[in-house]
Amino acid sequence: MKHKSVYLLVATAFLAVCVMTGCAGSGSTDAGVTEETAKDAAAANAIFSADNETEGGDSSDSSATGEGEAEPEGKEVEMETWKTAIEGLAEDFIFGMDVSSLLVEEKSGVKYYDFDGNEQDALKTFADSGINYIRLRVWNDPYDENGNGYGGGNNDLPTAIELGKRATGYGMKVLVDFHYSDFWADPQKQIVPKAWKGMSLSEKSSALYDYTKDSLGQLFDAGVDVGMVQIGNEINNGMSGETKIENVIELLKAGSKAVREISSERGKDIGIVVHYTDISPKEGVLALIEKLVNGGLDFDMMGLSYYPFWHGDMDNMKNVIKYIGEHFGKKAFIAETSYCYTLEDGDGFGNRVSKSDLVEGYPATIEGQASYMHDLYQNVNSAGGLGVFYWEGAWLPVGPANADNSLIWEKYGSGWASSFASDYDKDAAKYYGGSSWDNQAFFDFGGHPLESIKVFKYMK
Ligand code: CA
Repeated sequence: MKHKSVYLLVATAFLAVCVMTGCAGSGSTDAGVTEETAKDAAAANAIFSADNETEGGDSSDSSATGEGEAEPEGKEVEMETWKTAIEGLAEDFIFGMDVSSLLVEEKSGVKYYDFDGNEQDALKTFADSGINYIRLRVWNDPYDENGNGYGGGNNDLPTAIELGKRATGYGMKVLVDFHYSDFWADPQKQIVPKAWKGMSLSEKSSALYDYTKDSLGQLFDAGVDVGMVQIGNEINNGMSGETKIENVIELLKAGSKAVREISSERGKDIGIVVHYTDISPKEGVLALIEKLVNGGLDFDMMGLSYYPFWHGDMDNMKNVIKYIGEHFGKKAFIAETSYCYTLEDGDGFGNRVSKSDLVEGYPATIEGQASYMHDLYQNVNSAGGLGVFYWEGAWLPVGPANADNSLIWEKYGSGWASSFASDYDKDAAKYYGGSSWDNQAFFDFGGHPLESIKVFKYMK
């Protein structure tokens, strides 16, 4: 390898810097902070200064990750840094992948391959690449009254069971991500499941408890190795149609009780996860967690969405994880993240992340994607986090970008939303279509694994 000796030297220096600073700002995101996030970071440093005593702030390790294409030597080093192991990773550190759309992708005719060009289960490719945990979203009833799927994977319980069994077969554990909705649940919407509409809070709590316990029972009966359960998805602003935090906590308690009971009945150690997003500025999310703790909710860990193009810089993310550990005694992990390897669109349905979203230091290349993941893992680990789940690394085009793929999306639910979702979610028509995530997968548009998928092995 060209510049190998230079690389080794820089890598050694980089590790030394890591030891001294806890890898503060090891990503080149430091250079990419916007004024706004810089303000957040400054506020964070003021508020959580105790967390930052050993952090050097603007560390000089940008030489290790490179400053961009203007400096060939730096770029060479950047390309190689992601191939190095991360020191001190726990044996059970989570190398997670959300593959919720995989089953409908396969039904839509998408093929996945190994590095030799042989067709291969994407789950096996992930397992072979070092992924040890699979995340699967579950919607209560993502179908209209005629049985037409809402799309976005049509992720009902049988889908989770089928994918979960396959993941278990490859030796991976499963995180079950209950949305407690019939379709996408996020900060913008938390629509109550059709079957729970009109219920009082206590009736809804009871239904949520029954649903959680019954669903987990079915997963265990099928042999799925469930290791963690998310009670709700990105519930910053509510859950299952409830917006008051006291009401949400009541629902969460019902979910938590169901998980604890089945955990005891089946002799399984299942982690109970509460999932938030929008971690920057951090004060909002930390105030929410405080309410959960003060409200007496029984839970084990926090799952956080962290998309670097939306959710602030890595220092803020690290400080949130550290704060959760130090002040609430809870572990945290990244429940969702992603980064693009190209700016191309593969299926004729525009992508969510484009040029203006790129984070400085991470170009829209295979190396950029891998470098981002390496830096993220390094930072999560140094903050005491449990690991990282990548979001939808196998959501590929179902047909070429110049074709009309809508019939396939509609029939199998392999796009964001089908036309059948509108009755339930009035905004679904706005995002009706295909995959807006195909430039952020770990496979190319034709289903061949990218070199960046090897980053998980290298990190270990
Ligand atoms: Ca697309």
